[in-house]
Amino acid sequence: MPNLIRADGQGNLIVPQDGAIIPIIIGDGVGPDIWRATEPVLTEAAKRSGHKLEFVEAPAGQTAHKQFGEYLPDDTLETLKNYRVSLKGPLATPVGGGMRSLNVGIRQALDLYACVRPIKWIPGVPSPVRAPEKADMLLFRENTEDVYAGLEWPAGTEEAEALISFLTGTLKAKVRAGSAVGIKPMSEFGSKRLIKMAIDWALKENRPSLTLVHKGNIMKYTEGAFRKWGYELASGEYANRTVPEESWDGKDPSRLVIKDRIADNMFMQSLLRPEEYSVLAMPNLNGDYLSDCLAAQIGGLGMAPGANLGDGLAVFEATHGTAPKYAGQDKVNPSSMILSGAFMLGYLGWKEAEARIQAALEKVVSKKILTYDLARQLGVTPVKCSEFGQALVQHME
Ligand code: NAP
Repeated sequence: MPNLIRADGQGNLIVPQDGAIIPIIIGDGVGPDIWRATEPVLTEAAKRSGHKLEFVEAPAGQTAHKQFGEYLPDDTLETLKNYRVSLKGPLATPVGGGMRSLNVGIRQALDLYACVRPIKWIPGVPSPVRAPEKADMLLFRENTEDVYAGLEWPAGTEEAEALISFLTGTLKAKVRAGSAVGIKPMSEFGSKRLIKMAIDWALKENRPSLTLVHKGNIMKYTEGAFRKWGYELASGEYANRTVPEESWDGKDPSRLVIKDRIADNMFMQSLLRPEEYSVLAMPNLNGDYLSDCLAAQIGGLGMAPGANLGDGLAVFEATHGTAPKYAGQDKVNPSSMILSGAFMLGYLGWKEAEARIQAALEKVVSKKILTYDLARQLGVTPVKCSEFGQALVQHME
């Protein structure tokens, strides 16, 4: 019988092995299309692996607004908290009107402090790079601080002028009059908990290295501190299990090698020598750019899974937006949602179910059964979004 996922006092999940109940935010735009294709794939993979999946809808976005007059009802947030692990389609953020992003609202309400993106190419998926198989990475991006803190004020406002006057007066900083200003807060607490999650994950999966990606050469006390706190954590709590790159003699494979790279160099490395990197941990803005750049290498956002994780709470999500021009056409690629669901099954400890989905995707792609976005690049006739989901179920072992 499917049951509730719980957590122990340390935030570790206790997953009922015979079956789990997962809230689903279907989402706006193409959300219903990709969910219709995804649900049978996840259900079948779980069933074939001896588990039962049951989904409960948690309304959010335009559907919730029509039904309840709210885009993100409190009941939905309560459901996500109580059930602990959820899956989410894309949600529209209306431009203008000052409405904050629902995605950011969910992350903040649940303190989902890590945005996690696995980067792994599925053979046959068109890629702009020559050897996409070389990128096999797991990115951890801080989700609550840095530019996501949302601390900025428009040029010419009272707030901006007050801040500029404090900066130029008290701190003797040079700021051009009439500037727009923003603040980039980065704390030891926020940085270390993100890096800790990345190290724990790397050790659990026997990954060879963890790289701290920062811009500490220029922003010494924010990005530089991220690097410093990372090394402090590794050489303190994880002294027996990690080794800094410069002391690594290549002899003990059980040690996690801790590297750091300046963000611009890391962008170049991600294209030229991706095979030298495994787990990456970084502040918010670096992660924003790098995760989409790496997603492009494995076929774009339509092929990239994602998750927002906190302590004992997780929301797995398609990484693309609502693609409104395709809504209701049964056309778009559901792979991002399907792979996010597979990632979720692995997170629940149902690794066999995750592997079944990966294997089915490889088979279907190798047969060139593809939705429009990939089909147009290979010059083959596309299948519908729902047909792609059905093909995965048919090819699943
Ligand atoms: P988008 O919805 O991701 O769509 C941009 C383009 O990406 C589409 O026109 C399409 O390209 C391609 N695309 C997206 N999803 C696809 C899929 N599943 N399969 C194949 N191709 C796909 O980005 P946007 O137009 O900038 O944003 C639209 C809305 O989504 C906004 O309200 C934004 O705030 C929201 N959004 C939500 C999330 C989220 O919920 N996590 C993330 C990003 C954006 P082609 O036109 O080339 O076919």
